[in-house]
Amino acid sequence: MNLSFQPLDLKLRHTFQIAREIRDVQNNIIVLLKDEDGITGLGEAAPTGFFGEDIKSVSSVLAQSTDLLKNADPFHIEDITGYLKNKFPKDAAARAAIDIALHDFIGKKLKIPLYKLLGLNRKEVKTTSFTIGIDTLEKMCKKVDEAKDFPILKIKVGIKNDMEILKELRKITKAVFRVDANTGWTVDEAIKKLNIMEELGVELVEQPFPVGSIEAMKKVRRHVKIPIFADEDVKDSKDIPVLSDAVDGINIKLMKCGGIREALRMISTARVHGLKIMIGCNIESSVSITAAAHLTPLVDYADLDGQLLVTNDPYIGVTVDKGKLTLPESDGLGVAQKCAGSQVIM
Ligand code: MG
Repeated sequence: MNLSFQPLDLKLRHTFQIAREIRDVQNNIIVLLKDEDGITGLGEAAPTGFFGEDIKSVSSVLAQSTDLLKNADPFHIEDITGYLKNKFPKDAAARAAIDIALHDFIGKKLKIPLYKLLGLNRKEVKTTSFTIGIDTLEKMCKKVDEAKDFPILKIKVGIKNDMEILKELRKITKAVFRVDANTGWTVDEAIKKLNIMEELGVELVEQPFPVGSIEAMKKVRRHVKIPIFADEDVKDSKDIPVLSDAVDGINIKLMKCGGIREALRMISTARVHGLKIMIGCNIESSVSITAAAHLTPLVDYADLDGQLLVTNDPYIGVTVDKGKLTLPESDGLGVAQKCAGSQVIM
């Protein structure tokens, strides 16, 4: 297997702001795994500084993995991803790119779509939320108006006037609200705000506090009814048991956990602990978003809109209509590259 990789700079439709950062471009890397017959598995890394990765670290891991992949049997995904996890424990996005490319490759080799390889029912995919990043009230209202086809909105909060914004947004849409504080609240603030948010029809809240605030989450859970989901707090399956009494659910991202293999382990672990599951994303192209979409029959909530937040996604895969995800039926991920005109290259 020949591993090659190339940069993919995704331009954001709107400047993206959450509680701790602001940006206009997401720098990702596309991975190609090719065998001697010309079958190519596609993968993607969407690194985030929060977890200590960037395109430089991803490129370094990929460059150091080429020899391993050259001699590996691509069907030994567990061996390959296990080896890479030991060697590069902190480089989950880089490992996810290889994991996704291996799954795409095997699906193409066996001539079946990924959801079939995983034994899943294509009809059981979930409806995705659409993310509204932090902005001025006026711009957030505009974004909500642009997203009027989506029945579920994920509103980024965690700033001083977030309640004011949420109340105004409630006036202009009937969409289900999920909120994400991205570690931006204190305990008192969370209790106060979540009790008001309950009246505003907020379905769940993601990551109210900084990583490791287990006691804070337990306390808030005693005072509010809105389910609390861990995101930044839960990278992979080993993080789940300690959170099981502190949260109602977890947000799994391929870029946090290292790919499809680990996401499956996280799903099993979360279910054992009676937790709800969301599958989310970073700012990503249709390559890794489609990989995550293939797992949605196994989860309760989907937040897979990273490809919709950019203007130059070069790929087509999972499609979104009024939030409803539809998986492609072609082999592997079912992702194709867009090219000039209406033709696409498989
Ligand atoms: Mg989140």
